[in-house]
Amino acid sequence: MSVSPAANNTDRPEFLNARGGRNKLHPADVHGRFLRWRRIVYAVLILHYLALPFIKNGAHPAIHLDIEARRFYLAGQAFNAQDVWLIVFLLAAFAFGLVFVTSWAGRVWCGWACPQTVFLEGVYRPIERWIEGNSTQRQRLDESPWGVRKLALRVIKQFIYVAVSLALAHWALAFFVPVPQLTQIVLHGPAGHATLFKWAMGLTALIWFNFAWFREQLCVIVCPYGRLQSVLLDKQSLIIGYDESRGEPRGKKLKVLQGDSPRVGDCIDCGLCVRVCPTGIDIRQGPQMECIGCAQCIDACDDVMKHVERPRGLIRYDSLVGFEGGEKKVLRPRLMIYGSLSVAAAFAVFIDVATLRSPFEANLLRGHGTTYVLDGNSIRDQFELHVVNKHVGPADFEISIKAPPEAIIVLPQPTLHLESLQDLRTPLFVSTDRANYHGSFDIEVTLSDRTSERSRTIVGHFIGPPVTPR
Ligand code: SF4
Ligand code: SF4
Repeated sequence: MSVSPAANNTDRPEFLNARGGRNKLHPADVHGRFLRWRRIVYAVLILHYLALPFIKNGAHPAIHLDIEARRFYLAGQAFNAQDVWLIVFLLAAFAFGLVFVTSWAGRVWCGWACPQTVFLEGVYRPIERWIEGNSTQRQRLDESPWGVRKLALRVIKQFIYVAVSLALAHWALAFFVPVPQLTQIVLHGPAGHATLFKWAMGLTALIWFNFAWFREQLCVIVCPYGRLQSVLLDKQSLIIGYDESRGEPRGKKLKVLQGDSPRVGDCIDCGLCVRVCPTGIDIRQGPQMECIGCAQCIDACDDVMKHVERPRGLIRYDSLVGFEGGEKKVLRPRLMIYGSLSVAAAFAVFIDVATLRSPFEANLLRGHGTTYVLDGNSIRDQFELHVVNKHVGPADFEISIKAPPEAIIVLPQPTLHLESLQDLRTPLFVSTDRANYHGSFDIEVTLSDRTSERSRTIVGHFIGPPVTPR
């Protein structure tokens, strides 16, 4: 069944029918200041999403997640699998940031920046409106019997939906496979890249299913963030709510004029705030988990208030304390704790990237097998110098060794050229005459990075057979 959300005067939200099944919603069109701002924000976010794969930072895209090679390029920095702990801190910074924003401004993320809302309200719904008309026309079309017109409109809409989903899926893949490479793969057909093709088709199907059919169910049934609202919000959090003290008792002004009612509040019970709601709830029943904070009901009600010559803001952004006429507080302990945790996690990443992070990794490892080799009159130790280039581009390294005079050094590769995130093991042989050996000694291996002009010295221990005291 399809409905244009309307106040049903029950506790049941409009997205559910009496049997608990889904009512397909056709939220009414709305105009107003919040819609204008949301459209600007959506446009900026969508343009960012479309532009990001084309923005390069050196030789690599600004965001390139090479899962197969376990290499990640983010904002001019190269990361490999060993840096995964930084991702944990980054995610923690984002999660605490989101918790902070929610605690402060409610579901502003859901209504203004979540990809689900941005693409549904910024791309798919406008396409639907353009092809099938406003909510009343769409609902009539849903309920009309199948005929040539309905079939044609549905085929055109789904064709465009699939094309847009296909494009969005390929844009998502462009974060994993750079655009020039992806373009070549697409032009050459799926035969040589079956796995990537399956990913592209799977993503397309998922995006199409979500935006063409599943829609608000993702927010009200699937999304875990929505379920967490009640623990993240407090009475001072900014939410979208209905001013009951001003709006009630709701009713038509006509009733007062006709003497049927001594007084009515500002709410004329037109039901427009419910009809525009993309999740089909009645915000007049109080804050609800299904509210995604899109502000459509504010715009709708402000418009109504203008027509009945009452001040706007019957539905507005305010805190529960604000709606009750209490004192508002911006700085609260939970806000400061969430904010501090987010800043601390982000700061840890920043400190590592900006100061501690070395543009290369170097480790001196012992060669496989026995600790030392006795070869005639000489004792030989074998090492391996393991180097990882963490520059976003290629880099050249120089190896120098400092060792006691009795040590004979054999270094087959004194200079190294490594591509970005390439790792290489180069052998190093240290030997000494048995006659000159008086116990283990240290060698200092210095790796100099010509690109960053940074160097690192690692100490290795030459170990020979036990020395008998003379
Ligand atoms: S839009 Fe405003 S006036 Fe109309 S029902 Fe909603 S709260 Fe009442
Ligand atoms: S109640 Fe208002 S803010 Fe919440 S989802 Fe519905 S229209 Fe958007």
